[in-house]
Amino acid sequence: MIKASNLNTADASETYRVDAGDYFIHVIPAGATFRFVDLEGNQAADTLFYNAHNPEEHYSATDTIREQGNVYLTAGSKLRSNENNVMLEIVADTCGRHDTLGGACATESNTVRYDLEKRCMHACRDSWMLAIAEHPEFGLDKRDIAHNINFFMNVPVTEAGGLTFEDGISAPGKYVEMTAAMDLIVLISNCPQLNNPCNGYNPTPIEVVIWDAN
Ligand SMILES: [Zn+2]
Repeated sequence: MIKASNLNTADASETYRVDAGDYFIHVIPAGATFRFVDLEGNQAADTLFYNAHNPEEHYSATDTIREQGNVYLTAGSKLRSNENNVMLEIVADTCGRHDTLGGACATESNTVRYDLEKRCMHACRDSWMLAIAEHPEFGLDKRDIAHNINFFMNVPVTEAGGLTFEDGISAPGKYVEMTAAMDLIVLISNCPQLNNPCNGYNPTPIEVVIWDAN
């Protein structure tokens, strides 16, 4: 569902640029609203969410899909945890659909999907592992790397139930905006993938904009 935001970026408290291949890890307090902007279009932002006070509680695709009765995420979607609590809600979306079925790229899956020689290529799982290794203060461990959301990525489900990685439906400047329902850790890998059309074979930066709670 396309829904524009009423928030003005001039009122934002923080703005970050995340280059393709980089990670972003940050605490977002309950009540704050934050926006991911697909600056150049057709990018994939592979994202995990955690309860900032108990990282064993994390975003759960299965609980979210079951409770909303739809496999796609967009404005109105309540993103739930593995304890079935609402962690955050998508409050605006000018892209219209985001994937939570396709998973994140890893060197292992690159090898299976594309070619043995792709194993050395940078993948989202590497960026997440680097983030948690460089930031022990967040208390995240390898086993906390769970199922993720691919913001701006297009993975349509066929009539027969098949999954296909398709050319993106996003475009330069499209954004998705969320309000935190609990204190969150957000962990993004801005996808460096070069082997499938999810980012037009051209990884590009995203922007993270944060507004304080009212
Ligand atoms: Zn990736």
